[in-house]
Amino acid sequence: MAKKTVKDVNLAGKVVFVRVDFNVPLDGKTITDDTRIRAALPTIGHLDDAKLVLASHLGRPKGEPVDKYSLAPCAQRLSELLGKPVKFIDDCISQEKTAAIAAMQPGDVILLENTRFYPGEESKQEDQMMAFAEKLAAGAEAYVNDAFGSSHRKHASVYGVPKRVKPAVMGFLVEKEVAALDRVYNAPKDGFIVVLGGAKVDEKIKVIKSLLPRCDKMLIGGAMSWAFYKAQGKEIGMSFCPEGSPEAAADILATMGEHLDKLVLPGDVHMQNVQGDHSLVFAPADGIKPGWDALDIGPETKARYASLIEKATTVFWNGPMGKFEDKPFDEGTLAVAEAMGKCPGFNVVGGGDSVAAVTQMGLADKMDHVSTGGGASLEFLEAGGLPGIEVVDDD
Ligand code: ADP
Ligand code: MG
Repeated sequence: MAKKTVKDVNLAGKVVFVRVDFNVPLDGKTITDDTRIRAALPTIGHLDDAKLVLASHLGRPKGEPVDKYSLAPCAQRLSELLGKPVKFIDDCISQEKTAAIAAMQPGDVILLENTRFYPGEESKQEDQMMAFAEKLAAGAEAYVNDAFGSSHRKHASVYGVPKRVKPAVMGFLVEKEVAALDRVYNAPKDGFIVVLGGAKVDEKIKVIKSLLPRCDKMLIGGAMSWAFYKAQGKEIGMSFCPEGSPEAAADILATMGEHLDKLVLPGDVHMQNVQGDHSLVFAPADGIKPGWDALDIGPETKARYASLIEKATTVFWNGPMGKFEDKPFDEGTLAVAEAMGKCPGFNVVGGGDSVAAVTQMGLADKMDHVSTGGGASLEFLEAGGLPGIEVVDDD
C-alpha cells in the first residue's frame, strides 16, 4: 500500500492537525499506562518545526462531554514527556480554539478535548460527520494520521478531516502498522498460521471467513472454541459463550465448505468444576460435563498449536487462548506466545487482551510486530486496508 508519510512532505511552519490515539487507561485523573502517548512521540518529534494541533478520542462518552473522559491529563503527561508546554483547549470547535491556533508559533503544541464529546464525530450520517469535520479542521493546513487503532472507523477526526485537509499523510506509528499488516495480508498461503481466540465469534466472523481461504491453518482457542463446540452439538457445561457466538460459529461451519479442513478446534480443554468442589481437570473436547467451566485449551492442544506455530512462515494472532487473567488458565496463551517467540517466520500479535497478555508475560519484544489496534488490525486483514488509511494521499 503506497501512501505518503510525514517524511514525504515538508510541514515546517504549517498548522498540522494530528490525529493521535491518546485513549489511555485512567484511574480518576491519573494515567495508569502512558504507552499510547509515548507511541506518538516519534511523529510529534519529527514535526517539531510545525504548529501541532493534536486530537484524540478517549473512552466512550457517546457524543457529549463526560468529565472522566477528559483529555486534560494527557496534555499534562505529554508536556512532561516533550519537556515543553502543551496547551490544552477544553473543546474542539470554539472561537477560543481558532484564536489559539492563530496565535501559534512553530514548535507549539495544542491538544484538543475529546473528539467524542461531539455527536458529529461518530455520526453514521455522512453530512453530519462532515459538518463536524469541517469545524474540527478549521485552521489546519495539513493532516497526519497517527491513530491506527481508530483507522477502521469512518469518524470525523479519522476520515472526515483528511478528506478536506491536504496534504494528508501517515505518521510513523501508522506507517509501521501498515507495513506489518500489509505483509501479513499478502502472506503466502503455505505456512501462514492464524491463531484466533478471545470470546466473541460474532465480532470475528468476517475475518474468519476472509482469512480461512487464504491461510494454511487457523487455530481456534479461547471461549470462541466453545461456540464452535456448541454449534457441533457438544456439551459445554457452564463455559463462557456469549450470545450470538454459537450462531456465528454455525454459520461458518455451514458455509466454509472445503476450507473447514483448515479450521483447527482444541482437542482437549482445561476445565473447573464450578458447581462442585472447584477442582480442575483436563478433558477431551467431548468430555465437558454440566456444571463444569472450560477455561483454557488443554495440554495436547497446547503442544499441537505450539509445534504448528514454531514451523510457520507467517503467524497472525488475535485473542487469548483462555481466561489468562486467572492462573493457571494463562497456560494456553503462554504456550502460544512462547511458540511465536521461537518461530523464525514473520509474526504479528494484535488485540487488546492478547497484547496485554504478551506484555505481561514479558514476550512483546520477541514478536516482529505488536499491533496497537485490535479491531483495526482484524479489519485490515479482512479488507487489505482501512478507511482512515485509504483517505490519506497516495505516494
Ligand atoms: P482481544 O482483546 O485480544 O481481541 P477478546 O476481547 O476477544 O480478545 O477476548 C478476551 C477475553 O476473553 C479475555 O478477557 C479472556 O479472559 C476471555 N476468555 C478467553 N477464553 C476464555 C474462556 N475459556 N473462558 C472465559 N473467558 C475467556
Ligand atoms: Mg478485548
